[in-house]
Amino acid sequence: MDCGIFVSGMDKKIIITIDGWSSCGKSTLAKQLARELGYVYIDSGAMYRAITLYFLRNHIDWTKPELVKDALDHIHLEFHPNHKTGQSEIYLNEENVEYVIRDLVVAEKVSDVAAIGAVRSCAVAQQQKMGRRKGIVMDGRDIGTVVFPDAALKIFMTADKEIRVQRRFKELYEKNPNVTIEEVRHNLEMRDHIDSHREISPLRQADDALILDNSTISEKEQLSLALNWAAERMGKA
Ligand code: C5P
Repeated sequence: MDCGIFVSGMDKKIIITIDGWSSCGKSTLAKQLARELGYVYIDSGAMYRAITLYFLRNHIDWTKPELVKDALDHIHLEFHPNHKTGQSEIYLNEENVEYVIRDLVVAEKVSDVAAIGAVRSCAVAQQQKMGRRKGIVMDGRDIGTVVFPDAALKIFMTADKEIRVQRRFKELYEKNPNVTIEEVRHNLEMRDHIDSHREISPLRQADDALILDNSTISEKEQLSLALNWAAERMGKA
């Protein structure tokens, strides 16, 4: 997988990591930052979701290490830009799965799959490869702690839980009016719990991360804050 794109004219390309709790707007900020800076945006959660989709579709019993290993050998992930939206989208074995991986069926299982060591090693190796040329914004749960521990700018995002539930519900309801707020709350709590308690690479704030709580600030305000941090780290402030 090679998603590095060199954009000329930038003074100093850095790696920006955005970690944090589920549904606190990491991808919204990451996409906006990448667009403003002419950087590549990589949604690491999409990789775990696509692997989970493959396991579900192929009835892989992920409690069995040999079946996981074999399945991973048959998974090929790539990011390609959608020329209409300008955003990169994930392809699983050449199929665009960007939208199907957002389904609650995948969200119900993704944290279990993402806790498996072999799955993480495979995803992390690809993520590190994508960051080789820098000029990248990557969001997830372990990006500042494990994937890019030397990143120049690490942001840890958080927001009030009920605000996150409402935001996620609104997003999912637009696609599926049958979804309930209880389902969304349960999924968010479950993922946060598994993600922060797993043995390998649990979600935690890197010691040198800057905290961004967006419970009461607008998207515009959070972008401006993050752009200032980025400028400072690029030595341009
Ligand atoms: O970011 P998103 O909510 O799409 O991520 C889906 C799931 O993938 C998370 O709940 C987490 O279990 C897993 N994940 C992870 N490490 C990352 C990104 C996502 O474990 N870097």
